[in-house]
Amino acid sequence: MVRLLAGQGITDEAVLKAMGEVKRHWFLDSALDALAYEDRALQIGAEQTISRPSTVAMQSQLLQVQPGMKVLEIGTGSGYQAAVLCKMGAKVFSIERQKSLFDHTKPLLAELGFNVRCFLGDGYQGLTEVNYGPYDRIIVTCGAREVPEALMAQLKVGGLMVIPLGEETQEMIRITKVSESERTEEKFGDYSFVPMLDGRQMR
Ligand code: SAH
Repeated sequence: MVRLLAGQGITDEAVLKAMGEVKRHWFLDSALDALAYEDRALQIGAEQTISRPSTVAMQSQLLQVQPGMKVLEIGTGSGYQAAVLCKMGAKVFSIERQKSLFDHTKPLLAELGFNVRCFLGDGYQGLTEVNYGPYDRIIVTCGAREVPEALMAQLKVGGLMVIPLGEETQEMIRITKVSESERTEEKFGDYSFVPMLDGRQMR
């Protein structure tokens, strides 16, 4: 899988190393073991999917993570993306809105030895119950219809946010927060994510 990613333009050695070490099948039902290292999204319950390895690699690379950085993830899902960032040395905070996934993944990450701080909540609001911010990096792993302003507020000046934007399909956007009021955007092609749902749609 890692060789495949390296052939697809993933050049960040830290990403390739982490994805070689964090086994994707740990985060999937054992019935899916045979498919775990193919480049495809797979079901993780509650109508959600773990992203394709190539998408996890691309988002991780775009994030330009350095050890010790505080990273906020929206959409914990299976915990795989959070574990990869943790392996890269980031301090990871992750929010999931579906209680069944939160209840499953929080203890799983702990059992596997990944020190990811998991929260149940609405990622459109960011992390509100406790203030660990501002964050060096924010990664959104569900398709957002707009850039959540609450998240922009929780991002450090000079920080980066990687977010798939759009309703049906999404364009991968990297936002640099240049100052409190200025930002720049770069675009990195089309992707397909499960939708980012707001708080009223929580279950
Ligand atoms: N990073 C995950 C990807 C899971 S798919 C992984 O590696 O497996 C995206 C996840 O985002 C789903 O679990 C979905 O429930 C969650 N999600 C959707 N809207 C959300 C919101 N507003 N706040 C937090 N999580 C959300």
